[in-house]
Amino acid sequence: MQVPARFEYEVAGSVDEAISLLQRHGPEAQLLAGGHSLIPMMRLRLAVPEVLVDIHKLDDELRYVRDEDGVLKIGALARHRDVLDSELIEERYALLGEAETLIADPLVRNMGTVGGSLANGDPGEDLPAALVAIGCEVVVRGPDGERTIAVDELYAGFYETILEPGEIVIEARVSWVPDASSYVKVKRRTGDYAAAAIGVALNMSGGEIEDVRIGMCGVGSTTLRAREAEELLRGQRPDAELYKRAGEQAAEESDPIEDARGTVPFKQDLVKVLVGRSLETAVERAA
Ligand SMILES: Cc1cc2nc3c(=O)[nH]c(=O)nc-3n(C[C@H](O)[C@H](O)[C@H](O)COP(=O)(O)OP(=O)(O)OC[C@H]3O[C@@H](n4cnc5c(N)ncnc54)[C@H](O)[C@@H]3O)c2cc1C
Repeated sequence: MQVPARFEYEVAGSVDEAISLLQRHGPEAQLLAGGHSLIPMMRLRLAVPEVLVDIHKLDDELRYVRDEDGVLKIGALARHRDVLDSELIEERYALLGEAETLIADPLVRNMGTVGGSLANGDPGEDLPAALVAIGCEVVVRGPDGERTIAVDELYAGFYETILEPGEIVIEARVSWVPDASSYVKVKRRTGDYAAAAIGVALNMSGGEIEDVRIGMCGVGSTTLRAREAEELLRGQRPDAELYKRAGEQAAEESDPIEDARGTVPFKQDLVKVLVGRSLETAVERAA
């Protein structure tokens, strides 16, 4: 079935109006941003919203990539392409550019939004894993005002976030500027989602890994953070043996399922290899 079920369509003129529309129509209403996840799911009837609240006209409020007092702020309607084109991001967060280059194709990157990518709750989305690695906070606004959620706490399960009814993702905010970062991905072909992908960001001090964060994409029911692997790395001098141990630990923390992109052991092996590769690249970049 390639035709969506019937739905009502509303266009919001402001964030506040979008929140009111979501409240008025209740839990069967869904936001529409770039539509590059939602529309395919509606066509397959995996999503059957009764009302779509289109926010594509809110570029004035929500489409930006900027620095404010050293904090990177990316509006929810910034397109993947805006992230890729940002000099600020290129300067500070190599992994975001690397993740974005590997997301789909130019068509999707021109339309797909940062807010949609975060709110979709698909563990195969690259951007949330990269944002986990740089300690992003997600700003959401709803009927009761604004709150901030660490991106590694945003997901409750497969395609499930902890957003309350009526809440809208407004902004991704990053205050940590790591010494270096890296994002690596294995996919079956150009434009495909990841069989596995890893984002790493770190600070070095006196030849040791002072701080590090690792985000994992496509290897669990949610975007994952490899906390124990991070713990194992802190305060250590990087070498091949350390990369190997960190990869093994991260594989333990992953929980992939078998699908068309690979078996469970294959994906766990990918995690081992990609964590090592991403760490090595980030350490070299920090030197
Ligand atoms: C062919 C194809 C290949 C792709 N390959 C990749 C890939 O390799 N890697 C990857 O990461 N992604 C990939 N994508 C997904 C794409 O990056 C996402 O669809 C896109 O980023 C999601 O943003 P959107 O604006 O299209 O969201 P929509 O499709 O408009 O919305 C997605 C979900 O988020 C909700 N939502 C949207 N905006 C908000 C908001 N501001 N606040 C709260 N909820 C909101 C919607 O209600 C919906 O539930 C691919 C997509 C396609 C079509």
